[in-house]
Amino acid sequence: MAEQKKSVAIVGAGIFGLSLAIALNERNYKVTVFDQNRYDQDAYEPGDDRLQVASIDHNKIFRASYGTKEHYQRLAMESREVWISEDEKRKNAGDEEIFNGCGMLRVQPSDKLGALERETLVNMERNGLLDKQFVKSDMEDRKRARGMGWEAKLLDFQIPEDPQGKTYEAVLDSLAGFTKCSAACVYYQKTAAAKGVAFHVGHDEGAFDSLIEVDSTIETGKTKVTGLKTKSGATHVADVVVIAGK
Ligand SMILES: Cc1cc2nc3c(=O)[nH]c(=O)nc-3n(C[C@H](O)[C@H](O)[C@H](O)COP(=O)(O)OP(=O)(O)OC[C@H]3O[C@@H](n4cnc5c(N)ncnc54)[C@H](O)[C@@H]3O)c2cc1C
Repeated sequence: MAEQKKSVAIVGAGIFGLSLAIALNERNYKVTVFDQNRYDQDAYEPGDDRLQVASIDHNKIFRASYGTKEHYQRLAMESREVWISEDEKRKNAGDEEIFNGCGMLRVQPSDKLGALERETLVNMERNGLLDKQFVKSDMEDRKRARGMGWEAKLLDFQIPEDPQGKTYEAVLDSLAGFTKCSAACVYYQKTAAAKGVAFHVGHDEGAFDSLIEVDSTIETGKTKVTGLKTKSGATHVADVVVIAGK
């Protein structure tokens, strides 16, 4: 059996905390997740107004279009592969998909492409993804969209009171879609727990109160974090504490 590495305490069982917990667990870290919400009881229920958490929702847009932020584009494309491969596993288990690659029409504020859109298209081309983008007014793109079955989504929206009856420019991004984010959190929470990640949840034992710090033995005048304290007063020792909640 492989030797267990350092212990990591993660505060926050949103999509970031959960995916980090799984990634670290797979690298043999001992992971404990803390959250103030009782997700074991409410199952990340999107209709529950008490849960004001970004990851809780029916769905959220998935996109790789981020203008000049090429690193976001690359990260999004990496995550897209993960969503698709996880959905394969879910399909085999009879569960519904979490990622829906329905595409997204990015409608512009005028009949021209905006600067952000042009920057996105440059980066899409740099990463070999331009063939997945279709500019509405570009006849070659339209032809390609027709051949690939996407043309019906290149919708026209009339610019109000335009004397020439122009329509808004748009780009159809066939890589985009949406994720069912609460369903994703339920899935990743169960996956993490099944892999051995420990959870402390609830407004006392799961809620972060403070870091436990001791004097650093390496740098005078500095401290080292050795764990955390929850609102219940319990202390938890950890080599590393990650705050993935605000
Ligand atoms: C209105 C809105 C719309 C968005 N739309 C999109 C979109 O369409 N597409 C997209 O990609 N992204 C979208 N985002 C961004 C995306 O939702 C977030 O980036 C993502 O959900 C953040 O996940 P997270 O795990 O970092 O944080 P969160 O989901 O906020 O999770 C943080 C967790 O920390 C817990 N926590 C907080 N404080 C404590 C504490 N003291 N002790 C214990 N636990 C604590 C909370 O209970 C929560 O469970 C949107 C965000 C918002 C708000």
